[in-house]
Amino acid sequence: MTKEVNKPKDWEITEALGSLTCTSSRCEDNLHCFLRDLRRKGNRGKSYRSDTCTGCGEEIIDWNRINMHNLEDKDYFVECLKKETWRHAVWNLEIPQYMVEAASKLNIDEMRLKVIKILSKRINKKKSEIYRDGAQTPKGKKIIFLAQHATGTCCRKCIEEWYGIDRNEIMNEEDINFLTEIILMYIKQKVSLRN
Ligand SMILES: [Zn+2]
Ligand SMILES: [Zn+2]
Repeated sequence: MTKEVNKPKDWEITEALGSLTCTSSRCEDNLHCFLRDLRRKGNRGKSYRSDTCTGCGEEIIDWNRINMHNLEDKDYFVECLKKETWRHAVWNLEIPQYMVEAASKLNIDEMRLKVIKILSKRINKKKSEIYRDGAQTPKGKKIIFLAQHATGTCCRKCIEEWYGIDRNEIMNEEDINFLTEIILMYIKQKVSLRN
């Protein structure tokens, strides 16, 4: 029981992110947003990816380079993710101690398996078959969930935005592999895994 005492509630993590959401932009601070709001008039049926920032209209990202899904270029991928306001905040989030501890019990292969399992269970379905797509990934509880928000792998909207994968397409092994390695970039940066 005492173990649970210092465990922050989910809202405490969310609170650290302030009033930001995945559609926030702070262009004056060079923090942008590329997630198109499809509920807006004229946007129906379009891709969730906006090639230009939805706030300032600037071209910030080299999408051809992003679309390559080249693991050797993953640093550029991460650099771009951090140019989005919401993800930038998650990359800079202080990780609660209980998540650090939980992660330290796993080695990289065990963590990778957990990531793949979460992606298969919660994410790799057609958007039309997911109940409230966009809300299936908590903003706390597990380092993997935070990593998903940081890397645009939290829902089918963000995957279409960042990975260019159609929201109603089932992802293949290669896709899942790429997403997993990007997620692991966040995890490795934020916590120390077991050897
Ligand atoms: Zn902008
Ligand atoms: Zn999302």
